[in-house]
Amino acid sequence: MQKFKVTIIGAGPSGIATAIQLKRYNIPFIIFEQKSIGGLLRNANLIENYPGFHKGIRGTEFIKILKKHLKKYKIKPLYEKVLKADYLRNKEIFYIKTEKREIYCEILVVASGTKPKKWEFEDKLPDSIKKRMYYEVVNLKRIKNRKILIIGAGEIAFDYALSLCDKNKVFILNRSKKIKVLSVLKDKVLKNKNIKYFDNSKVYKIEKKGKGLGVYFIKDNKSEKLEIDYILVAIGREPNKGFYSENLKKLENFLISREKLFLVGDVKKGIFRQVGIAIGDGIETAMRIYFALLSTT
Ligand SMILES: Cc1cc2nc3c(=O)[nH]c(=O)nc-3n(C[C@H](O)[C@H](O)[C@H](O)COP(=O)(O)OP(=O)(O)OC[C@H]3O[C@@H](n4cnc5c(N)ncnc54)[C@H](O)[C@@H]3O)c2cc1C
Repeated sequence: MQKFKVTIIGAGPSGIATAIQLKRYNIPFIIFEQKSIGGLLRNANLIENYPGFHKGIRGTEFIKILKKHLKKYKIKPLYEKVLKADYLRNKEIFYIKTEKREIYCEILVVASGTKPKKWEFEDKLPDSIKKRMYYEVVNLKRIKNRKILIIGAGEIAFDYALSLCDKNKVFILNRSKKIKVLSVLKDKVLKNKNIKYFDNSKVYKIEKKGKGLGVYFIKDNKSEKLEIDYILVAIGREPNKGFYSENLKKLENFLISREKLFLVGDVKKGIFRQVGIAIGDGIETAMRIYFALLSTT
């Protein structure tokens, strides 16, 4: 079985930053990506807080720049989903299994980001309705003249609304009365004539209605109804570590303390999930790996 010095799981901003910096140190690595380069940036409407882009930059444009950067350093991610990551304590090595191969590595960098939290109401729905539900705006980016209901009212939900509202009518349903998003984002959404916002609202029934869906919800103790085409769920995200073996789950903290396992970017950042942080984290991780390897040679 092939053995690598470093394996990176994920080619989002944090994995890419780690890879570029490792390349600068001439440390050999392999990087796996299950979907597409750039990770969550594919869903981001306009990134306005990344220094250097004073006019803001679309997530998809940012990805194009990251791809050029990877090309310059001749970094080619392998498009394979990592299915399992384990640590063999007797050999002091990681075992990685993807859809296509099994490898060993000395150091593992987990840059796998987050996955959307599941909307529990979904379990009550038949497949014919589930087919019209999505968790990522990228799946709806080409549609126009449709009505989309967004479940959730965090920054991602509001960003999704802005991505869709130029060509569609958007509804946002917030089960709470509070809006916990940046005021600049909140103002843009609440002022947009193609976006209608409902607070204190909870869905209790969804049914097929002709080609679309009828969504029933309680708002301020009154029943309301919307006729829509698609549902987009954005009710929060959680770390993406489904490929961890039971053994790796137990050893995680120990291996982190030994600088054998590194978690970078959103996967470990809780609510502090931002591109700038993910990229800084990736660069720092590669530097830590470099100094850890220096001290062992
Ligand atoms: C709608 C939206 C708007 C945003 N707007 C902003 C903004 O304005 N400003 C800002 O700073 N941040 C913004 N963000 C957050 C920003 O996109 C993230 O902080 C950043 O992408 C995190 O990078 P990451 O590499 O840690 O994780 P991700 O971008 O999630 O990348 C993780 C990668 O790992 C891959 N992966 C996961 N599991 C596996 C596996 N088993 N095998 C192989 N590959 C795997 C995934 O496919 C993905 O490509 C926004 C996010 C969203 C969703």
